[in-house]
Amino acid sequence: MDHKGLKEWSKKAADWAHDYHEGLRDRPVRATMEPGSLRDQLPTAAPEQGEAMEQIWEDFTSLVPDAMTHWQHPRFFAYFPANAAPVSMLAEQLVNAMASNALIWQAAPAATEVEQAMMVWLRKALGLPDAFTGTIHDSATTATLSAILTMREAALEWKGLYEGLSGQPRMRIYASGETHSSIDKAVRVAGIGQDNLVKIPVDEDLSMRPDLLAQAIKDDRAAGYLPIGVVLCAGGTSVGAFDKMKECIAIARAEDLPTHIDAAWAGSAMICPEFRPLWDGAEGADSIIFNPHKWLGAQFDCAVQFMRNPIEQVRTLGLRPTYLETLGTSEVTNFNEWTIPLGRRFRALKIWFLLRAHGLEDLRNRIRNHVAWAEELYAKIEALAGIEMTSSPRLSLFSFALEAGDAATEKLLQKINDDGRIYLTQTHHKGRLVIRMQVGQFDCTRDDVMMVETVLKELL
Ligand SMILES: *Cc1c(COP(=O)(O)O)cnc(C)c1O
Repeated sequence: MDHKGLKEWSKKAADWAHDYHEGLRDRPVRATMEPGSLRDQLPTAAPEQGEAMEQIWEDFTSLVPDAMTHWQHPRFFAYFPANAAPVSMLAEQLVNAMASNALIWQAAPAATEVEQAMMVWLRKALGLPDAFTGTIHDSATTATLSAILTMREAALEWKGLYEGLSGQPRMRIYASGETHSSIDKAVRVAGIGQDNLVKIPVDEDLSMRPDLLAQAIKDDRAAGYLPIGVVLCAGGTSVGAFDKMKECIAIARAEDLPTHIDAAWAGSAMICPEFRPLWDGAEGADSIIFNPHKWLGAQFDCAVQFMRNPIEQVRTLGLRPTYLETLGTSEVTNFNEWTIPLGRRFRALKIWFLLRAHGLEDLRNRIRNHVAWAEELYAKIEALAGIEMTSSPRLSLFSFALEAGDAATEKLLQKINDDGRIYLTQTHHKGRLVIRMQVGQFDCTRDDVMMVETVLKELL
């Protein structure tokens, strides 16, 4: 295909995309295929000669959509959403067309400068103080790893980067058991070791016990460990747990430890001032992450990290060999020095388009609706016989189970997802298998959400 072919086929692709989205409600949300059944239909080696685009297109339309789970389906209530406002998809098309690699400022000045502006817009939208600057990563996992590497190196006075970790004191990081597995992964990958991620018990509210955090740090110091930081949970993936930011950050500060908040999902809700009490005190953290690709509407992937002092992270992750210098200018920001990969996509464009086309007020209304509909649905499910509510709505996430036990709950979940009208997933909560329900898909309506009650009534 040449660029003329691209022009023609892009138009066809745009039409296809429109029809696909229009038809989503008629598709089962979750892929219904058997594992391997698509792979087995593909040739076992690449063709030697190029094939006609018509043939490739036909195979795409006949094989792929039915083998997808439809994240943009308005009745996708599983995991957390990965929203894609149409205008953010448009921005991605333009980014694709330019196909730049924004590794340093001069490699794509607009990418860097729009990113800088968007970090200010988002920081203000979330109600965070001027002290924070930010950058965009691919995922919350990478952002958290970056923050934890920075904690490690700040504690080692940047010796780990050069000498390695052997011979260094044994480090400790603190978090509650409600934090996401990306924290466990980060401590593994950062060479700190998962055994040194101390999981502090939570109270009935699922918040980390500040008194036990303080005690654990003291005990570890007495035992010769080197505490390096605290990771706080703002909207846990399982059932939406929130740590008490203010208390925990005060303890970390008193111990001279940095704090990192994982608000990958719930961060988007903080554009609504009424939800900010949930993370009261967050402004005292050193690092905060949230994924605009989850609830806000920026197409995947897009994870934002705000930092109080980016210099520490740049000192940890930044390398500037001669071939990455911008000759003649010293006053530019090279965002690769703030993150792990060198190459970077122009992710800020979709945030720019999204915030301008919708405005914060429309984005707030969507999130407010999702929360209100989740609460309404919760009350309806609570009234169904045989069901026990296992966690009440945190923002738009709650959970429930069958009174009859885990096996029955699992069977019900399978029935629901085989039915296809809605899609829900499970978690373990307080030793039980429970069904998670979150409202957050960009195009979902109240009717879509209330369909969950209809399906449950039929399948119970
Ligand atoms: C989704 C999620 C993550 C992981 O996000 P990725 O961007 O997929 O790495 C981490 N923490 C929380 C609380 C999440 O909800």
